[in-house]
Amino acid sequence: MTDLMKGILGDISNEIDIEIHDGEIISDESMIYDPDISGVGGNPDALYNSISRIEVAHHSWTVVIHSLYGFEIKADKEKAKFVAYVGIETSLLLAILAWLLVRGRVRAMQASEELNRELTEHKRAEEGLRLAATVVNTVEEAVLVTDANNLIVATNPAFTTTTGYLLEDVVGKNPSILASGKHSKEFYKELWEVLLATGSWHGEMWDKRKSGELYVKWSSIKLVRDEHDQITHYVAVFSDISERKASEERMQHLAHYDALTDLPNRVLFIDTLQQEIARAKQDKLDKRDKANKKRLALMFLDLDKFKTINDTLGHAVGDLLLKEVAKRLLNCVRETDTVSRLGGDEFVVLLPTVEAEQDAMLVAYKILHALGQTFELVGHSLHISVSIGLVLFPEHGSDEEELTKNADIAMYYAKASGRNNVQIFQPDMLGIGPHCDLD
Ligand code: GH3
Ligand code: MG
Repeated sequence: MTDLMKGILGDISNEIDIEIHDGEIISDESMIYDPDISGVGGNPDALYNSISRIEVAHHSWTVVIHSLYGFEIKADKEKAKFVAYVGIETSLLLAILAWLLVRGRVRAMQASEELNRELTEHKRAEEGLRLAATVVNTVEEAVLVTDANNLIVATNPAFTTTTGYLLEDVVGKNPSILASGKHSKEFYKELWEVLLATGSWHGEMWDKRKSGELYVKWSSIKLVRDEHDQITHYVAVFSDISERKASEERMQHLAHYDALTDLPNRVLFIDTLQQEIARAKQDKLDKRDKANKKRLALMFLDLDKFKTINDTLGHAVGDLLLKEVAKRLLNCVRETDTVSRLGGDEFVVLLPTVEAEQDAMLVAYKILHALGQTFELVGHSLHISVSIGLVLFPEHGSDEEELTKNADIAMYYAKASGRNNVQIFQPDMLGIGPHCDLD
């Protein structure tokens, strides 16, 4: 301001003193310009004094002008000049004040724009936070946030639905209060190793609800770091997958087990047979087992004249009988053996380790005897029998296809031989076919 005024007044600054006051009151507080140290409100002893009020944009300014000694020595001659100066300087000041005001306004506008921008950004950030909070509070997945010390700081409503815990039950606690006790220490150790090394971990985990019920969840855990790369939070998002897993397991079960008897079905039987053949082959290769004569036995069973049960007593009784047959077959074998239902009245018994043909024959006779006993079913005493074809690995086939085919041939020989008996596969059965009527 001082420099600006010096520029405007130029040479006459030694002849005229100018004070500018903000507002209509002349005082020390209101004075915004006075290069002279003579005091406020002009100089009563000066030859010429002038006080003017200037209105700029609804704001008043007071300009006090008085003559200085340099001017007064020129006195009378210069009075007109003083008046002219006062007029010119007042106009100039008016322009300057207007400029100052405009500049102030521009600055104020800039400041206000800046403020607006900051407010908009703040508002946007606030909206983002509000949106994020809405999302977290409405998602179906449970959300659990812990601090750098892994103590719980926040949860969402889905967390309460899934675990039964309210935030106040768990806040400040370690998430281990949710642990089921089903996982080993190594499991959690590995989880932390992966989480710290990669920044995230996901997988299945068993947890315990507040009620004590165990459930399996799919969990995804992430690290949150600040700008200095320090861990500030851990965020876990998880959902209860017990039902999905149970239905998956049901589907798996249906795909591999017979719905009527709950025995392994054809798919699982073939799979098991392939595995057992592979294991038996490996055992043969193993030097320690060279001396041992262990082999695998496979029996194909088909109930005799089962159709007549269905035809005389109905399909439902036939079903009950098939279920009872399954139970009796299971009672004839060891836990390591497998009984499967291939469909209809066809069953398969797989003995993965027998030492000799006779051992398998003994099991076959046990089966013939067990199924030969009367079945008491819904008020009916039923009598059935079974025909069995027996093959041994490696004697009667090198893979599951050859073994099942030959077991089937042997079973047909048993049928052809009068039913209710067991036949061991013989190579001469191939191509000849059953030699008696199967009816
Ligand atoms: P064979 O001694 O020659 O075996 O005579 P069979 O009457 O047993 O004849 P076969 O084995 O060819 O027929 C099996 C019958 O089993 C045919 C069908 O009526 C019946 N069956 C097939 N699946 C089921 C089932 O799920 N439930 C019932 N109840 N019967 C079935
Ligand atoms: Mg049959």
